[in-house]
Amino acid sequence: MRVAVISAEAVPYSKTGGLGDVAGALPKALKQIGVDSVLVTPCYWQTKAEYLWSTAIDDLNVDWRGGVYPAKAFYSEANGSPTFLIDAPSYFHRDSIYGYREDHERFAFFNHAALTLLKRIGPAPDIVHLNDWHCGFSAVELASLRRWDAYWQQTRTVFSIHNMAYQGVFGADELWKFGFGGEQERNAFLSNGAASAMKAGLLVSDTLSTVSRRYAQEIQMPENGYGLDWLTRQRSDRLVGITNGVDYEVWDPRTDPDIGAHFDEQNLEGKRECKRLLLEEFSLPVRIERPIFANITRLTAQKGIDLMMQVAGEILATGAYIISLGSGEKRYEDFWQALRDHAPDQVGIFRGYSESLAHKIEAGADIFMMPSKFEPCGLNQMYSLRYGTVPIVRAVGGLDDTVQNFDSVTGTGNGFKFGPYSADRFLERIYEALFAYADPETWRTIQRNGMEQDNSWQNAARKYVELYGWTLGRW
Ligand code: ADP
Repeated sequence: MRVAVISAEAVPYSKTGGLGDVAGALPKALKQIGVDSVLVTPCYWQTKAEYLWSTAIDDLNVDWRGGVYPAKAFYSEANGSPTFLIDAPSYFHRDSIYGYREDHERFAFFNHAALTLLKRIGPAPDIVHLNDWHCGFSAVELASLRRWDAYWQQTRTVFSIHNMAYQGVFGADELWKFGFGGEQERNAFLSNGAASAMKAGLLVSDTLSTVSRRYAQEIQMPENGYGLDWLTRQRSDRLVGITNGVDYEVWDPRTDPDIGAHFDEQNLEGKRECKRLLLEEFSLPVRIERPIFANITRLTAQKGIDLMMQVAGEILATGAYIISLGSGEKRYEDFWQALRDHAPDQVGIFRGYSESLAHKIEAGADIFMMPSKFEPCGLNQMYSLRYGTVPIVRAVGGLDDTVQNFDSVTGTGNGFKFGPYSADRFLERIYEALFAYADPETWRTIQRNGMEQDNSWQNAARKYVELYGWTLGRW
């Protein structure tokens, strides 16, 4: 089976969030279980030159907006699988990866260039695996191509939703510019008088997936469907939930090069050392017996920052530390800064993006907070589990799939979770966690339960292979 994964971001070439992690790791895991896979992604200004191993195509002339765009393609295997990076400077060499008024045009171009490239490099893939609204354009183009281009006739499409909140909406009068002038194509995009790339992908792809079982149900409800729940309900017989995996080669406390001491579920001594180093890193006094609450995230409303703001005072009142890594909305950045000014001996903050610090925090913290409003899958709770950092989460999306409440009677469960979006409920779980933390044996049990859980990509990749088989009609 030949699979082409198309994604707007992929680690290590580019990343703004979970999509990048998934698109980088899945092709590698597919390759490891014997699936012939290729990744196609843009070459951004942010993509490090060391990852561009060679020039694969010098003259990828892409038919575009009535002319020809002279793009290039680089080749790399820096993510562990064959990757082609489309180089189109006017679209991708910019200060940030997203956030431009013409993002829809940038990714419409990328999609068309990706299909142009695939046709150029070899036989047609059996499956083109599309990701998020950025790839809705390819879904429609492939549905059309299949009708008249023999090359694509056998190819089937899988469309994965990583976040339903972003839909790539733009003026429908622009569709013809991107080659979608036909009535059928236009109708695929039309949504409430505008064009929606997400809607198009959901409507015309052969099968759909999303990144956890719980989120697959949630996007069929108005609250998380963002106006497209009617469509996910309509296509629910073609929709599956596959929980993302973790790249344990990158996130492994036994070998992690970013952390000062190594540890595993049998011997957690190294975690104590990581905790000491973490406190030092943030210039906090080292009181090793006090718990560290941590959070690493984009500072947006989705991540439940409002709930964290409401409970932060209570956490500090218990004498615990709080460490926060992330940047985003100003009101949230201001809050963390004010908290740090208020309690400089207990609060550590870093405004910005740092992979290395993320590893150090996962290794050194005791409790990880993730009270998200919604969370399609979430990765940090899974990293936390592997590093013996006990998660407190809201029971939504992938958080609900991967975290089980600790039960002190049976000794089962790997964390703490609550249902309603309420600071009181969050606080109840925080106090429960502190109670458990006070008993080292109990705490060790919770940590071990989490560290032993297998959220590997190999597991997830096998489920994707089943989905591909189903999409090809082999099941
Ligand atoms: P989302 O995709 O909604 O941002 P996920 O939990 O699925 O959330 O993935 C977020 C990824 O981005 C994780 O790998 C997380 O560690 C990382 N991340 C987010 N903010 C930062 C930051 N400031 N520094 C380092 N890593 C970060």
